[in-house]
Amino acid sequence: MFADLHLHTCYSDGTYTPEEVVARAAEHSLGAVALTDHDTVQGCAAAASACGQAGLEFVPATELSCELDGAELHLLAYGIDTTHAEMLAALDRFQQVRQHRIREMVARLNQLDVPLETETVFALANCRSPGRPHVGRALVAGGFCSSVDEAFERFLKRHRPAWVPKFKITAADAIELIHRARGLAVLAHPALNRLDPRIPDLVEMGLDGLECYHTKHNTGTVAHYLAIARQFDLLVTGGSDCHGMAKGKPTLGTVKLPYEHVLRLKSELAERRDPGGTTRASTLGRQAPNPKPQPPAAGVGTEAAVPPSAFHVPH
Ligand code: AMP
Ligand code: FE
Ligand code: FE
Ligand code: ZN
Repeated sequence: MFADLHLHTCYSDGTYTPEEVVARAAEHSLGAVALTDHDTVQGCAAAASACGQAGLEFVPATELSCELDGAELHLLAYGIDTTHAEMLAALDRFQQVRQHRIREMVARLNQLDVPLETETVFALANCRSPGRPHVGRALVAGGFCSSVDEAFERFLKRHRPAWVPKFKITAADAIELIHRARGLAVLAHPALNRLDPRIPDLVEMGLDGLECYHTKHNTGTVAHYLAIARQFDLLVTGGSDCHGMAKGKPTLGTVKLPYEHVLRLKSELAERRDPGGTTRASTLGRQAPNPKPQPPAAGVGTEAAVPPSAFHVPH
């Protein structure tokens, strides 16, 4: 059995509703999914209910854009309490920042003689957590660009003329926030951010896992990050980062996380909530405390052995 723990919906920059995501996951015979919309957990209730009906396991989550000494990284917050007041207040702040940034990007476009209107972008986004892809889609819909890719290349990419830097929470603050909301912090698509040398620092900050399987990770990359996860005793996650039709072809179903990693994630969440509790198999937990982190070995490692599926946790 397999899982996809990185999925976006129309509550951020994906195009599918939570129900559509779950229906497609069921078509691909997945056993578990997580919604990882940017800066929101709004789709989680509908996804949980759809998963319940379809017989899939659901892990609530969100993807936070963070900053580490000027570099951007994304943290996936798995298993958080979606009613946690401090987390919800933080997500609300991040959403305000996103909405303000849309206004600033549109103002820059207007200065570039592209007469796009803010309200057009907000109407198209139709969510509280809008992002650059929505501006890109509005530019295409208005006939200003022929594709979202072109919109990013001409206007929206970092240091392009309509790009506006975004306030981001620091990685350390994000990890602490995720932990207070009773979730686990996982570094998303590490290969995209080229932050391998900082992984030991993130582990020191309390990082819980590494997204080893991802659409943009080839077999060698997956093996490389599995080895790093094993070296630092980190949880292993993975997913397609599917945005529906937003990036051309939906990627749901193309990345399959072996189910034992979901069991380990659930076991760790249960352990955090009920330390030493009776409901979990102790062999599944991570060894604590973490050994003093050392920089990961250079190059591509050999594929780490996945935990034996005989370690079964009741769920
Ligand atoms: P934002 O959160 O507003 O900074 O936007 C980031 C989002 O834009 C992420 O979901 C990226 O996957 C997406 N993105 C980055 N480059 C492109 C591109 N060339 N075409 C479509 N989406 C992109
Ligand atoms: Fe996105
Ligand atoms: Fe991301
Ligand atoms: Zn994502």
